[in-house]
Amino acid sequence: MKIPARFQRGLAQFSILILLAVVAWQILHHSPAISADVYPYLNSLSPALVKQCTQENRSSPTILWEDLLAIRSTLPEKDAQRLLEQLRVQIPFANLNWANLPAATIRTVQRHRQILEQYTYYQPNKYTFPVIGPTWFEDSFGAEREGGKRRHEGTDLFSAEGTPIVSICGGRVEQLGWNRLGGERVGVRGDDGNYYYYAHLHSISTLLVKGQRIETGEPVGSMGHTGDALTTPDHLHFGIELANGQWINPYPFLEVWQSWSEQRSS
Ligand SMILES: [Zn+2]
Repeated sequence: MKIPARFQRGLAQFSILILLAVVAWQILHHSPAISADVYPYLNSLSPALVKQCTQENRSSPTILWEDLLAIRSTLPEKDAQRLLEQLRVQIPFANLNWANLPAATIRTVQRHRQILEQYTYYQPNKYTFPVIGPTWFEDSFGAEREGGKRRHEGTDLFSAEGTPIVSICGGRVEQLGWNRLGGERVGVRGDDGNYYYYAHLHSISTLLVKGQRIETGEPVGSMGHTGDALTTPDHLHFGIELANGQWINPYPFLEVWQSWSEQRSS
């Protein structure tokens, strides 16, 4: 049986329409893809190494911090030195002589550099530590809460009630006020696209307005134990939610940011 050409054309047009609809739906419901290697790498960096690279960058500003950190975090000392000497005499990263390093190793260093450039948590002094004054915190990301019903999606930073809390980055105030778990809480949509969550506040800064800008280091509020922290010691619950909806562990970043704020105040 021969299918009439008119019908075939119609079928083709219909298929294209369906295809376009699918593409349009995907574009509309697209959550930014974050490569699987990004956070394992960022979370693997030791705060001591990041701190060391920040200091090196300060004493030899010709070497970019991301070059330093990518090289130092990936290669053994001898290989790292050879490359850093080239950077010191202003040979661009793209023109480095990698000598006899395996191609896969070179690719890893390049990829790490790309991650550091794109996710700038470790860019010296771009972010700031949220608690002003002495504080205690440990890595409790993923710990069970409510008898295993949910996981801890942030870091708790402990200090006295009323201790000032500031914004770790510039952005826009997206959430403000009370919710059941967070109590008095502030949510900031950072300029980097991530959502930064400050919870259990004793009080929220009266300067904040929903939808308005907040800059790095500007007051968010003061430490307390509101919401589901009612019976716990005063602490700030700090969370980072990526633009794709995934909560990541803020602990390593907090360690580095704290060391920067200590350097500045010493
Ligand atoms: Zn918490």
